[in-house]
Parts: sequence; structure tokens; C-alpha cells
Amino acid sequence: MSQHITHWINGQLWSGTSDRTGQVFNPATGAQSGTVDFANTELMDHAVAIARQASIDWAATSISKRVSIMFAFRELLNSRKEELAAIITAEHGKVLSDALGEISRGQEVVEFACGIPHLLKGGFSESVSTGVDVYSIRQPLGVVGIISPFNFPAMVPMWFFPIAIAAGNTVIIKPSEKDPSAQNFIAQLWKDAGLPDGVFNVIHGDKEAVDRMLTHPDIKSISFVGSTPIAKYIYETGTAHGKRVQALGGAKNHMLVLPDADLDLAADSAVNAGFGSAGERCMAISALVAIEPIADALVAKIAERVSKIRTGDGTRDSDMGPLVTAAHRDKVKSYIDEGVAQGATIVVDGRDVIADSDGAGYFIGPTLFDNVTTNMSIYTDEIFGPVLSVVRVATYDEGLKLINDHPYGNGTAIFTNDGGAARRFQNEVEVGMIGINVPIPVPMAYYSFGGWKSSLFGDTHAHGAEGVHFFTRGKVVTSRWLDPSHGGINLGFPTNG
Ligand code: NAD
Repeated sequence: MSQHITHWINGQLWSGTSDRTGQVFNPATGAQSGTVDFANTELMDHAVAIARQASIDWAATSISKRVSIMFAFRELLNSRKEELAAIITAEHGKVLSDALGEISRGQEVVEFACGIPHLLKGGFSESVSTGVDVYSIRQPLGVVGIISPFNFPAMVPMWFFPIAIAAGNTVIIKPSEKDPSAQNFIAQLWKDAGLPDGVFNVIHGDKEAVDRMLTHPDIKSISFVGSTPIAKYIYETGTAHGKRVQALGGAKNHMLVLPDADLDLAADSAVNAGFGSAGERCMAISALVAIEPIADALVAKIAERVSKIRTGDGTRDSDMGPLVTAAHRDKVKSYIDEGVAQGATIVVDGRDVIADSDGAGYFIGPTLFDNVTTNMSIYTDEIFGPVLSVVRVATYDEGLKLINDHPYGNGTAIFTNDGGAARRFQNEVEVGMIGINVPIPVPMAYYSFGGWKSSLFGDTHAHGAEGVHFFTRGKVVTSRWLDPSHGGINLGFPTNG
């Protein structure tokens, strides 16, 4: 049965008729599961007007009241996570355990945002001058915009909206049109938690909706996550229209394995980080840099593990699900074809995988390449699929240079038992998030998530202290309550005295 998925505005589903729609598929079967309405400029304007109006009361709502709603939302999210995971798997394809994992990582940000009273505290300096006190306060921006990618339909929006809402902002979120239903489910949870209507609005659509968000004067900030070319466009257009923008882009994450590393741990980690979620993670490891002489042994250990991965429908007993769309499956397959044509050694070939599913799902099995060189497209490009490339190098310096020369700088990992080497790596590598014997170093909610170079445009990372800073504006107040000893007229510049 095909579902009709529409916008959530002012605490309810939109009742209008859309002139443009998109198709939503179950990637495990290839069957169409829904039709999603696409917003036009007028509808976006309507939603922003609702959010703008709601922002006046929400910003004035006491912190205690806002926090009590955050706690209620956290409880609902936790108690209904299985339902949400099923929605994610049905539209994205990732296996259910992985869908649950993304919800719990998003929930951590909700829990962090429950601490907003502490996070919003300003400073106070008494008697900076005679009878004068100074203090700082942080206030919400107003209406904030979030534009999210297909690969984490629940977690990535939760990097942003819990903090934005707790800080007193109202939200317009435009989810990926490929898996739009998760945010509608979350919108209902917010309503059930007692969030006032108009504070959280979900507007579905494509470029037309996004472009209006970028230019609308009442949207004060944009938090974008997606591919690098679009991230760059979002950053340039949003900032040109006076907005704060944090635009997180694509990735090519390297794992550097030193000769002294525990090779079984490194092989387990490479497989988990390379093929989890079919490689559709911005923190997936896609390039493994092996420092000789361990490459032969490491590749053999990885190949043995890869051959045991069960590819199939995410609702079944599978380790790895399908890719998100037929077009994406074809793109990943063409990269594998190119890798073979360009001379890499294909150790495990996922192109003809027999997947455990009904129908014609968008499957590619885990694929392992060895002897990859830096001029090959499987090395230079973000493939965003289950393809792991092994690059062999002779020294640590050669491996480090290769990582630093790559245009992306999202995540990286080093595997070694040498603390000094790991410490040197964390200092020298030009990447935003680093794992030391940890393959997917996604920071906890109270730290901030973000890459360097072409993996992030803007200067603020997601969640943690930087998230609180992004969703608030600072004011500093200098105050004097008159007493009988005021000093009379003085036209000089105020100095302390
Ligand atoms: P995408 O760039 O195609 O889409 C992201 C969002 O932008 C979607 O909401 C989409 O509707 C919108 N969009 C697409 N084309 C647009 C256009 N021309 N103009 C305006 N808006 C447009 O990305 P995706 O395929 O959904 O997601 C995968 C990408 O996201 C990968 O590159 C991945 O690395 C990246 N990603 C990065 C992070 C990170 O933290 N750096 C996290 C998750 C995903």
C-alpha cells in the first residue's frame, strides 16, 4: 500500500493539495511505498510565518517549562524507538539494529539539551567599575532552518533541533525526500510531549523548498548536512542572505594501520566501519592505509570477515541492507567497474551478490579492493557505498601525507599500540574527528561533530558547546543602579574606575 506523506505545520498534517510530489521506495524490495508532497515557495512562506509567530511565545516560555517538554520528548522517543526504527528501515534500508543505533545517538543530543539551563548560563562580574556590574546573556535566534540528508533520517536532524528548541527557537526542517517519514513521526512525538504548535514544522520538498529557506529573511540560520557540492552552495547562498550557516559535507575517511597494530582488531574495525549501513555513513571508513609489511596479512583477515557478511532485507537476519535508491546502487556499481578498469585488485566483488530479500532491492554486496592508488576514482571520490579500498604505503609519513592531501577531512582513525605515534598523529592530521583504535569516532553529544576542509563550510560544528553557541546570540549588559554618589558629567570614553 502506498502512503501519502505530507507536511507538518502548526502542530498538524497539512490539508492542502500539492502540485509536485516525489516517490518513496522500500530499498529492500524496490516497491514504491509512498508519495511525498513537495512544498513550493508559497507554502514555505506560510510555514515560516507560523514558526515566526510561534517563536515569540516560545522564546518567552520559562526555561523550566521548556525543559519539562524536552524530558517528555526524550521519554517518548525512548519508549517508541522500535516504531521509529521500523520507519527508518522501511525507507532507508539499513538493518533494524542500525536504525535503533542512530536513534540512540540522536537521543543523546536530546539528553544534552535537557541540560539547557546550565548551558545558557551567562557570566556575571560585580563592580567592574564603581557601582557597575556586567553580565552576559544568550538569546534564541528566532526561526531556524535544518536541511538533512537521507542517510540518517532521525539522527542528523537530532544533532540540531533539540538544542535549537531547548534554547527557545522554532524550527523548519526539510528532510531528505528519499526517506521523509521519520520526521513526521518525530513531529507527532513533539506534540504528544506538549510542545506548542508551530515550534517544530516539517516541510518536505526539493530544491525549491531549500532555495526559499536560504533567502527567507525570517529564517535566521541554516544547519545543513549533505554532499559537498550542495553544502558549498548552501553556505554561499545562505551567508549571502545574512544567515548563520553550518554546512556539513561529504567525506573520505582514512584508517591508518601501523605495523605494530593488533591486526585482528584492525580487521574487525575496518569491516564494521567500512560496511555498516552499506557504507552510507559520512564517518564510514572507505580508505584503509596499510603501512608495510602488514598489508598482505591484513587484507587476508579483512577478506575472510567480509565473506561472512549477510546482505539482505534490513528487517531480516541481515548484517547489511541495500543502498537507498536504484540510481545510487548503479552509481556505486559504476565505481567498482572503474576500480577494476583502472587496475586495482578486486579481492571481494559485491556486484553479483545474492541478497536475502523479496523483490528487486537495490543491493550491492561488500566489496574489497587492494593495491589502490591515489589517482583512481575509487580513491579520490566519495562513493558512499560498501566499497573498501586498501592503499599500501611504506612509512607513517607517507600515510599521513596521503590523508592530509585528500580534500575531505571529516573523520580518520589510527590503529597502533604505540602511544607516541598515536599522539603524533592526532597532532599532525588535518581532519576534524580522530579515532585512536576506534574506527568511527563520532563524538558524544557534549562534544561537537564536524570535519575540516571540504567536509564542512562555516566555522561551527554540530551539537555540544558549539551547537549551543550556534543557536543563540550573545548580549552583554553593563548596568548601574543609581546611588546618591553618581559622578556627574564626564564626556571621556568609559574606563574602569
Ligand atoms: P544531498 O546533498 O543529495 O542532499 C542533502 C539535502 O539537500 C537533502 O535534503 C536534499 O533534498 C537537498 N538537496 C539536494 N540537492 C539540492 C540542490 N540542488 N539544491 C538544494 N538542496 C538540495 O545528500 P544525500 O545524498 O541526501 O546525503 C549523502 C551525503 O551527505 C554524503 O555526501 C554524506 O557524506 C553527507 N553526509 C555528511 C555528514 C557530515 O556530518 N559531514 C553526515 C551525513 C551525511
